[in-house]
Amino acid sequence: MTENYDVIIIGTGAGGGTLAHALADSGKQILLLERGDFLPREMDNWDPKPVFVDGKYISADKWFDRDGKPFQPQVHYFVGGATKMYGAALYRLRPQDFSELEHASGISPAWPLSYDEFEPWYSKAEQLYHVHGNAGEDPTEGHRSAPYPWPAVSHEDRIQQIADDLAKGGYHPFHAPCGIMLDEASRPRSICIRCSWCDGYPCLVHAKADADVVAVRPVMHRPNVTLLTGSEVTKLETDSSGRVVTGVVVSRDGGNEVYHGDIVVVSAGAANSAKLLLNSATDVHPSGLANGSDQVGRNYMFHNCKAIVALSKEKNDTVFQKTLGINDFYLATKDYQWPMGNIQMIGKSNAEAMRGEQPEKTMFAPNWTLSDVAEHAVDFWLTTEDLPVPENRVTTDQDGNVHLAYSSTNDEEADHLYGELKKILNHTGMAQHHVLRKNFYMSMDVPVAGVAHQAGTCRFGADPATSVLDGNCKAHELDNLYVVDTSFFPSIGAVNPALTAMANALRVGDHLLSRMA
Ligand SMILES: Cc1cc2nc3c(=O)[nH]c(=O)nc-3n(C[C@H](O)[C@H](O)[C@H](O)COP(=O)(O)OP(=O)(O)OC[C@H]3O[C@@H](n4cnc5c(N)ncnc54)[C@H](O)[C@@H]3O)c2cc1C
Ligand code: SF4
Repeated sequence: MTENYDVIIIGTGAGGGTLAHALADSGKQILLLERGDFLPREMDNWDPKPVFVDGKYISADKWFDRDGKPFQPQVHYFVGGATKMYGAALYRLRPQDFSELEHASGISPAWPLSYDEFEPWYSKAEQLYHVHGNAGEDPTEGHRSAPYPWPAVSHEDRIQQIADDLAKGGYHPFHAPCGIMLDEASRPRSICIRCSWCDGYPCLVHAKADADVVAVRPVMHRPNVTLLTGSEVTKLETDSSGRVVTGVVVSRDGGNEVYHGDIVVVSAGAANSAKLLLNSATDVHPSGLANGSDQVGRNYMFHNCKAIVALSKEKNDTVFQKTLGINDFYLATKDYQWPMGNIQMIGKSNAEAMRGEQPEKTMFAPNWTLSDVAEHAVDFWLTTEDLPVPENRVTTDQDGNVHLAYSSTNDEEADHLYGELKKILNHTGMAQHHVLRKNFYMSMDVPVAGVAHQAGTCRFGADPATSVLDGNCKAHELDNLYVVDTSFFPSIGAVNPALTAMANALRVGDHLLSRMA
C-alpha cells in the first residue's frame, strides 16, 4: 500500500464519492477512507419492514440532544453515504438562494459565489448523476448552460391528473428532476425498472444514481485509487505550526493506523465532519481544527419539513410517485411576504411502512384501515428553508460523542406552505379535511434524529472571522485541508441538497487538479 497519497478523501457520499470520481483520471494517488462497507444487495433492500420499521440500514450510533438525551440519528454508513437511501430528487438551488433572502425568522445569508458562477457545475453533476427533467416548466428555475441529460420521468395517470388539475387552477406543476437510470424509450433495456421502492430504500438493481454506483465503483479499481472500507477516521494530526495536516488517524480492524496525504479532504457528512474537526483539537487549534472563528459545528441546518398524506376517494395506483414538483410558493407571493418553499411528491405510502401509526378518521372514511389509507394516499413532501442559527450546532463531549442542539426556524412559513397545499388540493378533488400529517418518513416524530438533509457546520465564505472554509472549500487556517460535503452550505435553500453537494465537489475537484498540476 502506498505510504503517502496525493489526496486522502474521508467519506464516500455525495461530496467525497463525487470528488473521487473527479480526481481519478489525474493519475494522482488517491485514498478513499470510508467507515462503512458496501451496502449488501438483498431482498430486504426493497422491503418496508426491515427498511422503515426495523431501521436495518441505520447506523447504531448514539448522539445526544441539547439536554443530553441520547437518540439514534437516521444516518447510513455505507459506500455512497446517505445517497444509498436517498430519493434521488436532484434539484438545483434557485438563483435567489445564492443571494441574501429575508425570511420570517431572519436572514438567509448570501453565498460567496453567484448562481451563474456555480451553474456550470450543476450541469456537469446532472450529467454524472443521470438527472431526468424538463427545463422550462418551473418558473423559479435559473438559466441552464446545458439541457437535462435525460427526458423527465413521465407522470403516471393519477399524478398526471393532479398535474392537469393544478395547471387548470393556475399553478405551475413541473416534472421533478430525478437521478435514476430509467430509459422510458427502451424499457426492456432500462436498468431502472420503475418500482415503488426508491425513496428511502437502497436500489437492489443499482439503477439509482447514487454516489456508490455512479461515482465510486467506476473508479475504485484504477491503479491510482485505493478504497478502504470499515475505516473510521477519528482524528487529524497537524505539524507544529498547525497549518498542515500531517496524519489521518483511522480506526480499522480493531486497531489504529495513520495515513499521510499532501491534501486531506473531509467529507463525512455535516455532523461527522464537524465532529472530526472538533475532536482534532491541538495546542495551536484549542477549540478544534480550523475553528479559530468558533464556527465549526455551528449553523447546523436540515430543512423545516412536513410529510403529508392527501386522501382521495379514488385509489392511487401510482408506482413511482416522485415525478411532480410545485414551486409556486418557493419565493414570496403577492399574498404572503416570505418565501415558503418547495412542494414535491414522495414515495408512495404503504401500510407496512406506516405500521405503528393510528389512521386518523376522516369524514369520508371513518372506518378506514391503514391499508385503505395507503391505497388512497397521495403523498407530498413540503420543504421550507431553515436558517443558519449559531446556536443550532454540533459539539462533542470529552468522549468525542456528537451533541446536536437544534430548534426550528421559519415555522410560520412552513405552516403557511401547508395551508397553501391544502388550498391547491381543492383543485384536485382532495378536500382540505382529508389532508393528514404523515410521520414515518425521516422520523418526523423525532425531529432532531431526522438528519437526512444535514448541512452547514463548516460554512464557506470570504471572511475567516465568520466562516470555516474559503471559496474553494479549503480551511482558512490550514494549507492542505478541505471539506466537500454539505457542511460548506452557508444557507440551505428549500430544495433537496445532494445535487449542490455533488456539483460543488466537481468544482472543488477542478480547483484541486489545478493546484496539483
Ligand atoms: C432517506 C433519505 C432520503 C434523501 N432524499 C434525498 C433526495 O431525494 N434528494 C437529495 O438531494 N437529497 C436527499 N437526501 C440527502 C442526501 O442524501 C444528502 O444530502 C447527501 O448524501 C449528503 O452528502 P454528504 O457528502 O454531505 O454526506 P453523505 O452522503 O452522508 O456521506 C458521508 C460519508 O462519510 C462516511 N463517514 C462518516 N464519518 C466518517 C468517518 N469518521 N470516517 C470515514 N468515513 C466517515 C459515511 O459513512 C458516508 O459514506 C436524502 C437522505 C436520506 C437519508
Ligand atoms: S425506481 Fe428504479 S432506481 Fe428507484 S429503486 Fe426502483 S429500480 Fe431502483
